[in-house]
Amino acid sequence: MMKYQTYSLHNFKNIPQISLLSEEDILNIEVVGHVLPFKTNNYVIDELIDWENYQEDPMFILNFPQKGMLPVDDFNHMATLLKSGATKEIIREEANLIREKLNPHPAGQLEYNVPELDGEKLHGVQHKYRETMLFFPTQGQTCHAYCTFCFRWPQFTNMNELKFSMKEADSIVGYIKQHPEITDLLITGGDPMVMKAHIFDAYITKILDANIEHLQTIRIGSKSLSFWPYRYLTDPDADDMIAVFEKITNAGKNLSFMAHFNHPRELETEVVKKAVKRIRETGAIIRTQSPVLNHINAHGDIWADMWKKQVNLGMVPYYMFIARDTGAQEYFGIPVVKAWSIFRRAYTQVSGIARTVRGPSMSCTPGKIRVVGVSEIKGERVITLEFIQGRNSDWVARPFFAKYDCKAQWIDDLNPAFGMENFFYEEELGEILL
Ligand SMILES: *Cc1c(COP(=O)(O)O)cnc(C)c1O
Ligand code: SF4
Repeated sequence: MMKYQTYSLHNFKNIPQISLLSEEDILNIEVVGHVLPFKTNNYVIDELIDWENYQEDPMFILNFPQKGMLPVDDFNHMATLLKSGATKEIIREEANLIREKLNPHPAGQLEYNVPELDGEKLHGVQHKYRETMLFFPTQGQTCHAYCTFCFRWPQFTNMNELKFSMKEADSIVGYIKQHPEITDLLITGGDPMVMKAHIFDAYITKILDANIEHLQTIRIGSKSLSFWPYRYLTDPDADDMIAVFEKITNAGKNLSFMAHFNHPRELETEVVKKAVKRIRETGAIIRTQSPVLNHINAHGDIWADMWKKQVNLGMVPYYMFIARDTGAQEYFGIPVVKAWSIFRRAYTQVSGIARTVRGPSMSCTPGKIRVVGVSEIKGERVITLEFIQGRNSDWVARPFFAKYDCKAQWIDDLNPAFGMENFFYEEELGEILL
């Protein structure tokens, strides 16, 4: 069994390899780590990070806070506070102010997508696209390590209680029963695979026992294959978790494991290969997704390499996302036009088997908008877009056009082409959001 050892702000100096870091880099981690998420573990440290080259290493940047992730003024302010010996309360308050400026709840996630069952709001549930309901179990609201680009962490807590969740399970079952259009239940987090197997089993058993015919697919969104593949091999309840997966497939439901990989390195260890094999043997299909991130994977060749490795391990490339308008986007974000050229360079290098991937796509308030590409139409340079998912399904797969803009990083930065006032969906979206 591999012992799971985590590190965060209070103990990262105990990491043996920290002695390779410059004093300045250690200070930067402390300053930025007070504002942005910071948690790593012994697998990432020993098997993924290239410590000889840590300053540019994508796996290091993925877990360790970097100076450039905060605006200069905020960085300096936090550094001064720490040096002056400010109290914990003051540091926490100031950190919260900085976080608020970083758009911690993008795309109306909190306001718009909470459904109701018998007049009561269902917390931990989102139903934005007709076929798919998202469920955030309370016990899955943390991860085996934290990605520095992530801003879901305001919600991170670590609860492993069963009592509370069984009420939750009853309400999601009730909701799905009342909504025959739902075919997919996507269990996400944080990372639901931090959950103990017996708790996950309790949820799944309730859902399967409800015998809901229209529910065809159970998806699990997880980064555990990158951050802690021992979850499926040597953890004390690894076999039990595998047994729950089998329970799902034996019940005749599709189990789709939505694995989050950001870099080919995460696919290269013997441990991850074994874990992938074991999950696949349950009958689950592993689909993969990642945002395209400056400093981590902003090159088409990295993506081509990643998709090929995924396919060779039996996984199915699914989504390439554009880094959303939140958190350290200044640091990680790239223009949509550049995201498309990365996508194109990668897509053209792989066989049709890897061209199952869709993107680059922005998950924004109206839906998932894909950047189809740049073209010139009657002398005007435009960016062609389309919905992969829409708040109204009827918007999906209708190409529409934005003015060419080489700097735009998000849908909010784009304007309609051909002198139009609005994109075709905007008026309707306004009505839906009322
Ligand atoms: C991506 C996403 C889904 C799933 O969409 P698919 O196209 O079916 O993969 C569901 N709900 C939300 C809110 C999403 O962002
Ligand atoms: S694993 Fe997912 S939820 Fe967790 S920190 Fe990374 S991106 Fe965020």
